[in-house]
Order: sequence, then C-alpha cells, then structure tokens
Amino acid sequence: MRARLSTRSSAPVRQSSVRAHNLALVLHTVANNADRPSRAAVAATTGLTRATVSALVDDLIAGGLLTEVGPAPRTGAGRPAVGLVLGDTPAALGLEINVDYLAACVVDLTGAVRQRFVERADQRPADPGQALTALGGLAARARAGAEADGLILAGAALAVPGLVTEDGLVRVAPNLGWQDVDAPALLRGAPALADLPIAVDNEANLAALGELRVTGGDPTFLYVSGEVGIGAGLVLGGELYRGVRGWSGEIGHLTVFPDGRLCRCGARGCLEQYAGQEALADDEQLAASALGIALAAVVNLLDVPVIVLGGAYAPVFERLRDGIGTELRQRVLTAGLAPAELRPAALGADAAMRGAADAIIRGVRDDPADWLRRAG
Ligand SMILES: [Zn+2]
Repeated sequence: MRARLSTRSSAPVRQSSVRAHNLALVLHTVANNADRPSRAAVAATTGLTRATVSALVDDLIAGGLLTEVGPAPRTGAGRPAVGLVLGDTPAALGLEINVDYLAACVVDLTGAVRQRFVERADQRPADPGQALTALGGLAARARAGAEADGLILAGAALAVPGLVTEDGLVRVAPNLGWQDVDAPALLRGAPALADLPIAVDNEANLAALGELRVTGGDPTFLYVSGEVGIGAGLVLGGELYRGVRGWSGEIGHLTVFPDGRLCRCGARGCLEQYAGQEALADDEQLAASALGIALAAVVNLLDVPVIVLGGAYAPVFERLRDGIGTELRQRVLTAGLAPAELRPAALGADAAMRGAADAIIRGVRDDPADWLRRAG
C-alpha cells in the first residue's frame, strides 16, 4: 500500500468490481444512518434490490463490518425489522512521535477510541531506531488491549513532525534531528507491527484531516499544531492541500522577526522560536503575538475563514485568543469586513494520532472488499 495516506473522503476509484462498489455503498448507508436501518431500508436508500442488499449485508456481517441489532422503536403497523449498525471487529492503530512524547491509540470502525497511551519523554537524545522501538512498545500495549476486546487491526499510521515522502520516508524532522529516516521499515522491526500495513504522514496534516472528519463542519480552514515545532494543515473545500511535493504547511518557519532568534532550521526569527511549546511556556503573550503576525500573513494570502489551534495551543486557547486577535485585526486587510474565526481543535492534543487512526478507518469504510479479502 501507499505509505502516505490517501486524503480522499469518497470511495477510491480502484474498486475493481460492482460488488466492491456496492459493499462500500451499503456500509456507508448504514454508517450515515443513526436509525439502525433494516435491510429493506438500505435497499430503498441505495436503489439496490433486497436480495442484493441481503447478500452484501451477510458478507459485511461475516467480516465484522456490520452487526444486527434489535429494531429501533417504531410506530405504525407491521413487524419491526432487525436493524443494522457498524460492526465491532476492524480497528486502526494511530501512532505519534513528537519531540517530547510518544503516543498510541486504537480507534474502532465507529471512530470511538478504544485504547490510548501517552508516554512523556524527550525524544531528542534518542536516535530514530531507539525512538521507534520505544513507540513499538506502546503499540504492543495498545494492540494487546484491542485484541483482548476482540478487535482486529486493519493497519497503523504514524504521525511525525516533519516532511514525509509518498513512500513514508521522513526526509527531515528538524526538531527530532531526523534526516532520511525509513520510518515504516524501522517500525516493522517491532513485533506488534511486523504484520500490519504502516503509513506515515505529517502530524499537522493528519490532525487537520481528523478535525475535518470529526467536526464535519467547515470545509476550509487552517489547522495549526503547536508542539515544540509548529506545523499547519491547510484544508481547502474539504481536501487537504499538500503542496507539489507534499511539504506544505511549514508555518513554524515563517519569519516573524527577521533579525530574531536562531532557529534549528538555520534561519533567524522563525515563528517556532517565539510560539513553539518551549517559547510558549516562557512567555505566552509573546507567543500569541508572534502567532498572530504569522497567521495574519496566511489569512492575507489565502483568505481562509477559520483557524483551528491544536496541539499545545488547544488547552491554553482562551489565554492566546486576545493576543492573536489583536494582531489579526491590525494586519489583515479584510479584518473589518469578515474577521477570521479562531477556535480550539475539537480533538485537543490527541488530534494527530486520532487523525492517523481515522485515516486507516476511512480506508476500511471506503473499501470494505479489501478488508473482507484480508480478513477472509
Ligand atoms: Zn526555522
């Protein structure tokens, strides 16, 4: 599989058969209907025959993708039908490595978090092999807990604070000191991960996709992830904008003070020297102001109406809001006409690993035939 995650929210085009297409259609129909639809209701919604729906539902139940439950209370005549809900077998492992922590979670087909582990430790002294071995240990605990619950993992995805190629190679992660790290290969060395498809992507991109999925609201926003470094994910019209090589969103290296502090990237005055997590702990108001200056540049250039603050910014959002807003009002040409909305991330500090797991889950929901082949 591609090591970087697909950002498409609709069914993938590589479905090779009508059956694969219809399996996805039936699964989506149940997923999008909170009223426990019957087989007949699914047939009516999809336009497929009842016999076809029944055969597809049987396959989806056998693969743990759907479950039959008691009928929803209903009024009117007739025998209440058995309803369908999403099944409880497939799950995904979301992993994150950041400068000062490792994290792992397991998310099930409905998007519920079933396991969550966070280990605070400075990763800068560790080499990539050591760091990913430690992460493999957390993954093993998460997997064991999930399997004890009867879940089967469909895959794992890793969020990293750096530039990632389509093959999952981490070209550079300045704050970890990583360069050209084959993260999938190192992770596969962990016994808990050896048999799973592993994807790798930038943490802010995954967090932005997670935010898009969870809120289901604004289709265009800038997600800013404040960690020791600062990344951003730009979602335009419901699609993540990656840039030509997949390396967009490096907002942490926008210059806010040209003669300012030296950054790990080699330049001076980068945003993350003033608004990264360590600078934030020293001086919250300087951090808010620097963030506001950088965000004003983004809003002037791109006309994004919503800015979502995640990572370390989410818990202190209320204390940053005024300082950022002051800069936006002063510096954004259209601030008086249509001020950009600021809000904290819905998933808080877990957004990147949740987004990573969610991307795998979306893959299962968009292509259940692939899951059934692998599970069968
Ligand atoms: Zn920099």
